[in-house]
Amino acid sequence: MSRFTNKVAIITGSSNGIGRATAIILAKDGAKVTITGRNAERLEETKQELLGAGISADNINSVAVDVTTSAGQDQLINSTIQKFGKLDILVNNAGTGVADPSGTTGISQNISIYDKTFELNVRSVIELTQKAKPHLIESKGEIVNVSSIGSGPQSHPDLPFYSMSKAAIDQFTRNIAIELAKKDVRVNSVNPGLVQTGIMQAMGAPTQISDKLYEYLGSNRDCIPIGRHGYPEDIANIIAFLADREASFYIVGQTIKADGGSTLVMAMNTHNLTDLLK
Ligand code: NDP
Repeated sequence: MSRFTNKVAIITGSSNGIGRATAIILAKDGAKVTITGRNAERLEETKQELLGAGISADNINSVAVDVTTSAGQDQLINSTIQKFGKLDILVNNAGTGVADPSGTTGISQNISIYDKTFELNVRSVIELTQKAKPHLIESKGEIVNVSSIGSGPQSHPDLPFYSMSKAAIDQFTRNIAIELAKKDVRVNSVNPGLVQTGIMQAMGAPTQISDKLYEYLGSNRDCIPIGRHGYPEDIANIIAFLADREASFYIVGQTIKADGGSTLVMAMNTHNLTDLLK
C-alpha cells in the first residue's frame, strides 16, 4: 500500500510545471489522477510522463478544459466521479500572472488585467471548490491551494494584481478551512517562491530571458539564501504532504512558504555594513 492508494485527485494546471510534477508524485504513490489544462498537446505530455512512470491508463483521466469556464469546471468534477467514483483530493494549482500586452506594469496596467488575473487565480478556485465540496465532504478529503510568496506582506509593485490575487487565495484558504474542518475536510496552501516552470513563457517571456532570471536569482544568495531556484518537484512534494491525511492531519488552514528563504531576507541586511560601522 502506498500513501495515496485508493485516493482520487484532481490537479488543476497539470499540463505543465508544478501541477504536472504533483500529478506524477501523487500517481506514483497510488492515486488515480484527473490531469487538466487547456493545451491538449502539453496535457498529452503529462499523460505520457505518467504512463512512462508505470502508471496504468485506467488511473489517468485527462481533461482538456479552461478552468475559468463553468462548463470546464463541471466537466472536471463529473468526469472524475464518472471514471473513478469519488474525489478525495483537490489541488487548486492552475494560475498565472497575466501580462499587459502593452508592456505596462504596476498600477497603470489596464483594468482588464485585473479581471483576467482574478478570473483564473481566484474566481475559478472558488467555483471549483464549491463544486468539489460535497464530494470532499463525503470522502473526508483534502484541498491544497497553490498560492505564492507574492501574497505579501512584502510589496510587489510590478505585478500588483497577481500578488493581490494570491493574497485573496491565502485568506480564502483560512476562511474555508474552519467551515470545512468541521466537516472533516482539510484545507491548506503552499506558497512557492521562484520555481522554474512555464509561468514566464505563459506571461510572454522568451525562454532565454526567463532562464537568465532563474540563473541570476538562483545563484545569488542575497536573493535566495538556499542557493538555487526551485524546481516543480520542490513544491509538488509539499502539496503531496498536505494532501496526505496521515502525514499532515493536524495542519489546518495554513499557508506554507517554500521559497529557499527568499522572504526572510531584509534588503538592508544584504549589504555589508562592516566598513560603515568602523
Ligand atoms: P505553469 O505555467 O508551468 O503552469 C500553469 C498551469 O496552469 C498550466 O498547466 C496551464 O495549462 C494551467 N492554466 C493556466 N490557465 C488556465 C486556464 N484558464 N484553464 C486551465 N488551466 C490553466 O506555471 P506554474 O507551474 O509555475 O504555476 C502553477 C501555480 O504556481 C500557479 O498558481 C502560480 O501562480 C503558482 N506559483 C508559481 C511560481 C513560480 O515561480 N513558478 C511562484 C509562486 C506561485 P494550459 O496552459 O494548458 O492551460
